[in-house]
Amino acid sequence: MTFIDSHVHLADPAFDEDRSEVIERARAAGAVALVCIGESLAAARRAAALADAHPGFCYHTAGVHPHDAAEFDGERDIAGITVELDRGAVAIGECGLDYHYDHSPREPQRAAFSAQLDLARRTGKPVVVHTREAEDDTRAMITDAGRAGVRGVLHCFTGSHALARAGLDVGWYVSFSGIVTFRKWSDDDLLRLVPEDRLLVESDAPYLAPVPHRGRRNEPSWVPRTVERLAIARGVEATAIAHRTVVNARCLFGLA
Ligand SMILES: [Zn+2]
Ligand SMILES: [Zn+2]
Repeated sequence: MTFIDSHVHLADPAFDEDRSEVIERARAAGAVALVCIGESLAAARRAAALADAHPGFCYHTAGVHPHDAAEFDGERDIAGITVELDRGAVAIGECGLDYHYDHSPREPQRAAFSAQLDLARRTGKPVVVHTREAEDDTRAMITDAGRAGVRGVLHCFTGSHALARAGLDVGWYVSFSGIVTFRKWSDDDLLRLVPEDRLLVESDAPYLAPVPHRGRRNEPSWVPRTVERLAIARGVEATAIAHRTVVNARCLFGLA
């Protein structure tokens, strides 16, 4: 199958020892592109170097994760993200709201997310959104942004059907990770709720390795396990889903 990993932290130090082998295994498994997430400006700069080293295969994003929102400085960080967009970043993020960990207070989380949504509106770039146990605020903020023309993806989605629908209603995509392969996963209705033209898959590596690799460092070459799980839930061929994710990721991120 051919697929696009729409969300991988390939610049993470977890890959410092063998990053080129990880990239080669991804290609061998059928990956035609990797969207390397810059969850901070430092990570975005490292991800940009990967995009430079692997043109047409690695792409990068730039944003400030909700975990780090307490340190978000609107002027400095929006300028920093804009620099990355000017040098080819394909999306803003990951950004969003995480009320599960609450690593940053919620008000700064909302402020940082709002500023990044506003940058997306002004630049026309899509947003990669992280949301966990923040359903009401996420729904309100992405609905407003979507109505203002912002496009995006709810990444590593495990939320409610209502939140998925709120994203779909404003034209957004929903991305599933290896979590859907875990034995405790029980919401196959959610896997069927997303129309095929809004479906993305991701590793979120180095986190969240799919079964049967659970507990190990994750990598993009294992994304087919997630695709296969989606195929079972949806009653279609895995190769067909994989192909759709390529078309969809190219469309959302404007990949070549
Ligand atoms: Zn995330
Ligand atoms: Zn992530």
